[in-house]
Formats: sequence, structure tokens, C-alpha cells
Amino acid sequence: MGSRLWMGLAAGFACAGVGIAMARSRAGNRSLRAPSYDSAGVRVLVLGGGFGGFTTARVLARRLAARRDVAIRLVDREDSLTFWPMVPEVIPGAIQAAHVVRALREELVPLGVEFVRTRVIGADLDRRTVRTGIGDMEYDKLVVALGWQTSFFGTPGAAQHCLAMQSLTDAVAIRTRVVDQFEAAVAGCPHDLRFVVIGGGSTGVEVVAGISELIDILIPEYPGLSEEEVHLLVAQAKDDLLPHMEEPLRQAAASRLRKDGIELRTDSTVKSVDERGVVLDSGDRLDASTVIWTAGVEPSPIARRLKGARLDKRGRLKVDACLRVSGQSGVYALGDIAAVTSGGKPIPPTAQAAVQEAAAVANNLAAEVTGGEPEAFQYRFMGHLVTLGGRFAVSQVFGARLSGWAGHLLWRGVYLYKLGDWRDRLHVVSDWSIRALAGPRVPRLRLR
Ligand SMILES: Cc1cc2nc3c(=O)[nH]c(=O)nc-3n(C[C@H](O)[C@H](O)[C@H](O)COP(=O)(O)OP(=O)(O)OC[C@H]3O[C@@H](n4cnc5c(N)ncnc54)[C@H](O)[C@@H]3O)c2cc1C
Repeated sequence: MGSRLWMGLAAGFACAGVGIAMARSRAGNRSLRAPSYDSAGVRVLVLGGGFGGFTTARVLARRLAARRDVAIRLVDREDSLTFWPMVPEVIPGAIQAAHVVRALREELVPLGVEFVRTRVIGADLDRRTVRTGIGDMEYDKLVVALGWQTSFFGTPGAAQHCLAMQSLTDAVAIRTRVVDQFEAAVAGCPHDLRFVVIGGGSTGVEVVAGISELIDILIPEYPGLSEEEVHLLVAQAKDDLLPHMEEPLRQAAASRLRKDGIELRTDSTVKSVDERGVVLDSGDRLDASTVIWTAGVEPSPIARRLKGARLDKRGRLKVDACLRVSGQSGVYALGDIAAVTSGGKPIPPTAQAAVQEAAAVANNLAAEVTGGEPEAFQYRFMGHLVTLGGRFAVSQVFGARLSGWAGHLLWRGVYLYKLGDWRDRLHVVSDWSIRALAGPRVPRLRLR
């Protein structure tokens, strides 16, 4: 306990020191002044304030800070950016939900970027107009970064009976459902502790591991229940979990999940979902009170409502090597809504890709505005990191493979760094430290 206390305090003080220094340097940004959007000579409109849109606006604002004739406006239906890689840790309460979101207005206004919270409805790219919940907006340059949404691939019953994982509130809802099922089980419903997670990719594995960790914390609080009454299962259509990772890491993840008592059903496509659970294409029925869908995403449906844009067969916006929307000038698309390639190879929809694409789009837009030439996007694959809770992660970074405690340390270090803001880092470090020192606790926060 003594060394853990010192480690916790040292980490806290280190982060606090750097945090204060960073907070001071942030204050310097506030002197930036931007022209009003409607009267600016060049109006740059960014649709979406997720990884791609937020990074584009931030990099572009810095590149064009000296240009008084350029105004940047970012539009999002939400007022915050969710740091998705840490969201699965919200399920067992390892990180507080409020600590994985960043307020867009607070981040953007000091950079001279206007933030407007409203819904994008569609656009006419030929007329350079975007339709939003508060009226039409005109632009000179446009960036489309509206991301993704859950896809149930038309699976009967899935949309009605599954919990999805497409917002931070979904993570809290999953935790609340598990707690509610425990309460129902002690009240005498024997089948209420069966949980099925559909999808064995990164999100499915992280979610099932988060639920398992949550259950480990809950069990001692319910002396009338035993671990044997809980059944946690992953149904994966492919022949292995984490198919994008290398074989030894896939095996390490699978054996860790099995050790935690999680049943893994590979080669098992879900045919339908109903109020009693899941039916597989083999005809097997898996009874479950709670079914969570992580099996697929599709591009934002707004892509289909951009008049003048071309789509690929998966409904993503077609872009050229410089990330310009095909057939349009001054219009860029990136992130999960765009069919991005690099060196002729398709780029997977991830946050690391969206952030790199955003930097390329910002550079190309800055080049357009200052009379330079846009450059082709070059993707650099950094690696994959998947946390399995309980101080275990599998990591494949720059060719190095790590699993277990070492992988977990790498996961924490990388995402703490990527979190971006020193106050958020301090909050997350304090969440981890308090948990390590005082033991885990399940937050009973309910969002209705
Ligand atoms: C649980 C989970 C864990 C993940 N973990 C990782 C990870 O560890 N590493 C990794 O690289 N990737 C991870 N990802 C994937 C990653 O989050 C996405 O690839 C990334 O967010 C894509 O960035 P984007 O900018 O294209 O879209 P987003 O980040 O989704 O941003 C889209 C933005 O557009 C806004 N928007 C959408 N529609 C509208 C509308 N009609 N009007 C106004 N605004 C709108 C949204 O509110 C959102 O702010 C994870 C995803 C999930 C679900």
C-alpha cells in the first residue's frame, strides 16, 4: 500500500505541475481574435466536432491565425467531444464519465473558432449551402466530418432489443442495466444475469471486459448471489476475436476473457434478437436479459443528403488522394464518413486515422487559402491497443507486441497522452489513483 500511495501521489503532483503550466500557456490563446463568420472573406465551415472535425478546426486555426480575413465555424449536434478509446472504462467506473468529454466551445473559442450547436440536415454542394436545424449556412470551404452510427445490418429485432454503444450515455446505460439486473436477480428472477455482447472486435472485447470487471465489483455487494449465476458471452461472426490483431495477441485476449469466465462463441452470426435473447444462424438460442450490439458501424446517413457528392457502395463519401470530395472544389471529407485511401489502400475507420486525416485536411485547406498546393494524404499506422480491464491489455504498437500488465501500462500511457488536455489527464489519473488506493466503487449515476 505504501509504494502505491507514493506512486499515486507522485503521478498526481507531476500532472498538477504540468497542468498548471499548460493552463497558463492556454490563457495566451485567448488574445486571438477572429472576424465574424458571415462577413469574412473566406468562410470555412466544419461539420462535426468529433476526432476529425475538432482536430481540423484546431490545426487550421493555428495555421491561419495571422489571417484576419478567414473565419472558421464548427457545427455539431453535441457540445462536447467524446474521447472514445477510454469510454469502455466508464462501464466499471474505472474512469468517471465526465472525464472523457471535452467541451467544444471551451476548446474552440480561445482559438478564434466559432462553435454552433445544431443538427446538420443536408447540403447542396453545388450551391455551397448547408441546411441545419437553425437555417441555411453558406461557406467558401467545407469540411465534412460527421462520423458514424451503429448499423444493425437489418438483423430482425436488434434495433428494438439491443443496447448499442454509440454515445457516452450508452456506456452509463449498460452499467445501469447490469446493476438493475443484479437488483432484479436478488428479487428472485434467476435468468436475469445472462448478458450477451454481439461483436468480437475491439469495441465488443472492451465492452465485455468492462462488464466482467463491473460484475466482479458488484458480486460482494449481493451476498445472496454467486458468480456461478452470472453468464457473460461474446458472439462473434468471424472465426476469431480481434481479427485485426496478430495471432499471439488474439490468443492472449481470448485466454484472458475465458479465465474471467466469459464464454466465447466464434463463427456465430446472430440471426435475430428478441425479448428472450439471441438466435444464432446455427439455430442455437442464447437466453439473455441484456444484449449489447457492437457488431458494426456505418457512415453518418447525412452523407446521402449531400447533393453533389459521390458515394461508394458502403455509403461513404468518395474523396481523392488529397481528401477532397470527388467532383467538388474546396470541399473535404475525412474520418468514418469518408472512403479514405493512402497509397491505394483503404484506411480503417479509427480515431488515429481521423486525427491524421484532419491534420492533412487542415494543411491542404491552409495551402488553398494561401495559394499553395494540396498534398496527398499519407497514413502512418501506429498500432492497436485494446484494454481488457483489470490491468490487462493487448497492444501492438510500431511492430512491438505486449500483453498483460505491460500492455496495460502502454494503453494507459498512450491514451493519457492522446487525451489532449491536462485537466482531463489530471482527472483520469486521479480516478485511477483513487481506485488503486481506496478500491473500486460502482457509480450509481443514472441518465434518463
Ligand atoms: C467504444 C468505442 C471505442 C473506440 N476506441 C477506439 C480506439 O481505441 N482507437 C481508435 O483509433 N478508434 C477507436 N474508436 C473509433 C473512433 O472513435 C472513430 O473511428 C472516430 O471517432 C471517428 O472520428 P470522426 O471524426 O470520423 O467521427 P466522430 O468522432 O464520431 O465525430 C462525428 C461528430 O459529428 C457529429 N454529428 C454527427 N451527425 C451530426 C449531425 N447530423 N449534425 C451535427 N453533428 C453531427 C457527432 O456529434 C460527432 O461529434 C472507438 C469507437 C467506439 C465506439
